[in-house]
Amino acid sequence: MSLAPWVSHGNHIASFGNKAVTMQPMSIRAQILLLILLPLAAVALLVVSAQRIPVPEMGRGYVLRVELSRVDRPADLPEVAGRAGLPLVVIDAGHGGHDPGASGQGYREKTIVLGLARALRDRLEEEGRVRVALTRDDDRYLVHAERVDIARRLDADLFLSIHADSAGEAAEVTGASIYTLSNKASSEAAALFAERENASDRINGTDVGAQSDVVSTILVELSQRRTQEQSDAFARLIRREAEGAIRFHPQARKSAALKVLRAPDVPSVLFESGFITNEDDARRLASPEGRARFAEVMARAIRSYFARQQES
Ligand code: ZN
Repeated sequence: MSLAPWVSHGNHIASFGNKAVTMQPMSIRAQILLLILLPLAAVALLVVSAQRIPVPEMGRGYVLRVELSRVDRPADLPEVAGRAGLPLVVIDAGHGGHDPGASGQGYREKTIVLGLARALRDRLEEEGRVRVALTRDDDRYLVHAERVDIARRLDADLFLSIHADSAGEAAEVTGASIYTLSNKASSEAAALFAERENASDRINGTDVGAQSDVVSTILVELSQRRTQEQSDAFARLIRREAEGAIRFHPQARKSAALKVLRAPDVPSVLFESGFITNEDDARRLASPEGRARFAEVMARAIRSYFARQQES
C-alpha cells in the first residue's frame, strides 16, 4: 500500500517523461525554423527602426561642395550699352567669385581683369561705334560655358576674354599673349556642338536642327571655320595695334583648346594681358594708366576689325 503512492508517483514521472519525449521531434523542427527566421526578423526590425529613428550626425559635420554647371538654368543676360544696330562686343573678365585666378605681387587676376574689362567697356561706350556688354561686372563666378552662352544668346559679333598669366616662381617672365582656339579643338568642338545642340539651334541663320547629323556637323564646321578666320584676323589686329604700346611675350600668338573660345558662331579671342607674377606687369595692369593704355589699344583693334568686316 505504501508503494502505491511511489508507483503512482513513478507513473506520474514516467508519464511526464513520455510527454516530454513525444514533444521532442516538433521542437527540433521549430528550432531549425527559428534559427532561420530569427535573424531575418532581426534584420527586418533593424531596417524598419532605422527608417523611423533619425540617424545620428556622427562624423558628418562636413559639407561636400560640388561645382555644377549652371548652363541648364541660363544666367541672366547682362545689360547691353550702345545704339541699336551697331555690332556687339562682349567682354569677358576671367575668373571671379571663389575663383581668384592667378595671384602674385599682392594682386589677384580676377580683380585686375575686371578693371581692364571695365576700362575697355567705358572706352568703347565713349567712342559710340559698337554696342558693348560685360559677362560679369562684379565679383561673381561664371563657368566657361556660361560666358560663351551669354555671347551667343546676345548674338555677339565679337567676344574678348581677358586674363592675366602666372609663371609661378619665375618672376622675370613678362609680356602679353593672344590665344585663339586650336584647329583640333575647333573641329572637336564643332562635332560636340552639333551633337548637343542638334534639336533646336540656329547657327549663322541656318536651322541646324532641321538637318541630319552629318549635314548639321558640316554646317557647324563651315560656320566655325569662318568664325576661326575672323578670330585669327582680330588676333592679328590686336598684335598690330599694340605694337610699341604693350609688351608681348616672345611667343605671343598661341592656340589652345580653351573652353571659353568654343562658340561656333562668335569670333573669340582670349587676351593674356601680362604676368601677374611679374612686378612690372602686375603694377602696370592694376594702374589707371595701364588700364587706359590697354583700353586704347584694344578699342583700336576692335575698330579696325569691324571696319574690315564691313569691307569684306
Ligand atoms: Zn586666367
